Order: sequence, then structure tokens, then C-alpha cells
Amino acid sequence: MLEYSRKAINFYEGYPQVWSRLPVITKNEVINQWSSFVTGHKAMFKFFYSFGYTGGTTGKPMKLVQSKLRFLRELGAMYGYWWSLGWRGECRAVIRNASLPDKQVKMHKFKGVIVFDGFKRENEYLEFIWSEIERLNVKWIHAYPSSAYSLFKYARDYKIDFAIRGVFMGSEGIHDYQKVLFNSLKLNWGTWYGHSEKLIFATKCPVSDVFHLDDYYGYTEVLGLGGEVEVGCQGSLVGSNSHNKGFSLIRYDTNDRAIYLGDRCPSCGEKSRAIRDIIGRWDNNLIALNNGSTISTTALNSHDPYFSEIHEGLQYRQTEPGSLKIYIIKSKDWNEVIFQEYQLFLEGVMSGKCEFQVEFIDKLIFGENGKFNLLLKY
Ligand SMILES: [Zn+2]
Repeated sequence: MLEYSRKAINFYEGYPQVWSRLPVITKNEVINQWSSFVTGHKAMFKFFYSFGYTGGTTGKPMKLVQSKLRFLRELGAMYGYWWSLGWRGECRAVIRNASLPDKQVKMHKFKGVIVFDGFKRENEYLEFIWSEIERLNVKWIHAYPSSAYSLFKYARDYKIDFAIRGVFMGSEGIHDYQKVLFNSLKLNWGTWYGHSEKLIFATKCPVSDVFHLDDYYGYTEVLGLGGEVEVGCQGSLVGSNSHNKGFSLIRYDTNDRAIYLGDRCPSCGEKSRAIRDIIGRWDNNLIALNNGSTISTTALNSHDPYFSEIHEGLQYRQTEPGSLKIYIIKSKDWNEVIFQEYQLFLEGVMSGKCEFQVEFIDKLIFGENGKFNLLLKY
């Protein structure tokens, strides 16, 4: 693809064929020189390619050129992963970003999906989803983690006897209290990392929180300031196109970060390059302290396993540096002693650089696109 790009993509013309000498490019650089990343081979362009945009969750959206046949690779990677979880092409319920009137559902017979509204989370609607799932004998669910959590929390609280075999969850990070619920219901669940520029795809290891990088999908580097980071260190996830001849991004900095674990998964031993602790743009996750520095919300994760048991929802809100609101939904196992320990832990992490106030709530706050943001900034 590098060889192709040097010939057909203006930006790469004149660059040597030495990987390490190619510049790492950022989204802003691509936006500013957008046309120099598009193929110079214009013949049949409209026939082979279409346009799309990156999500606007952070800053400016970027225009993308996508192959009209991209679904072969996209679905190949995704379906391959779902297959490894036991899915064999059966019908699945999708609860993501569709907004539908009343209790209507959308059926796509060809794709084998039944789409529910991803914005309605009230009990009456959750009950409706469960009755449809049973009526249509659906065994698999594809949802945002927050939607899946609402649905299965309802099933647990109202003792719904379900026959779901597995849940596929993307687009948001999965929080510990959510994992506690999914595991307690013995759900076979999977999650992956991807992004709209479609250069990196990584899937959760079956036995741990490690992610395996799919080097066939695209090539991923984990880079620090001086190049590839050492095993155990955190760096930027930098992806390279391996298949899009219309719009070639090589060494593109996704602005997401992760810890590099080397070329074999340390948990299951699979011979696949591996990363963990991905900090995605969806996390929007830096808390501003009163001394001008920031800490990630990951730093506020309590390592006390019992803390995950005593709450069923957690969200932060920051409207000014040095002050943070922490919203918590108590679970039925709420325990004051563990909560006090959690507060001591937070005081230690913040060490006087950020005041925090805990508020107990009944419902999490969702964005207009139906997605959950751990840290609200309004
Ligand atoms: Zn593994």
C-alpha cells in the first residue's frame, strides 16, 4: 500500500520507501491538505467510492473517501470476531442509534437484524424489547454497552428468563459495574476497538481485558514521542491504511491511546500484537485540575473490587477546572464502609488539586446521539 500510495497519492510522492521516515499525520493536517490524500486515479472514481464523515464527537468532522466494497472487509473483520464468540449468522437485535416512533421496530430481513430504538430506556420500552426478542426467538444482541446494560439490568430486576447467547458491544468503553452485571448473568459478551477512519481494529481477548490487534485489517503502531513505545508503556494509536486505494492515510494518529503489550497476548497466548487500557475519544476523559494539569478518568477507577458491586452507574461532570461532580447510582448492595474507602481513595488521587462532590442519582445522563459519555463537560 505504501508503494501504491507513493504513485497514486500526492501527499506521499517523493517520500522514501522507508516506513520510519514517513511522517505521523494528525487529523488537522489531513483536513488542511485533504485533496492531497485522495487518489490521483480519477477514472471510475464515482463508481468505486463514496463519501462519509468521521463522527463529530471531538472537534471538526473529517470527510472520508470510502470504497463502495468496504463492507466486505468491514463485515469480514466484524463477523469473524462475532463468529469466534459463537455467532453463526443468526438474526440479531440491534439497539444503537436508531430513533423510531412509538413501539415500531425496523426489520432488515436481508441483513438478519431487527432494530430497536436506542434512545428509549424506560421500563415499558425495555419490556417491549424483551417480548419481541422472545417472540422472534432472537439469540444475539448488538448494542452500545450502556443500552445493553439498561436492558439486562431490567431483565435481572424483573427476573426475565431470557435465552440470549451473546452480546456484541462497540462505540463506547465498558465500565466495571457493567461487566459485573454481564458476567453475573453469564452472558457471552464481546467488544472491540474501531474508529471511523477505519485503519485499526482490535478485539477483546476472550479471557481478559487485553485487546488483540487485527493486522490484516490495518497496521497499528503504538508510538511515543521517540517512536514505537516499549512493552508496558502507553503511546498513541497510529493506524495505517492497508486497503483503501481512494484515500490513503498512512501513520495516522487517531488521538486515542493505549498500553502496548508486545507481539503476543500475555493473557491467552494468542500470537497477535496486543494492547490494553485503551483511552478512546469516546471517553472524552481528561479532568482539569486547579494547577493547570489534567488526569484521566481512568485514574479515578477504584481498584477495590467491591466498589463495582455496590454501584450500578457512575458519571462525572466538570464545568470548571479543579471541581468535579461525581454521580453515582447505588445498587441494592450499597455499603457505606466501601463508599467511605472510595472517597478516601479519591482524595488520595486528587491530592487537593480537585474538589469533588458526590451526588446520588437514579438515571445516567445520555447525549443527544444516545451515547453515554463518562465525563460531561457542560
Ligand atoms: Zn488474549
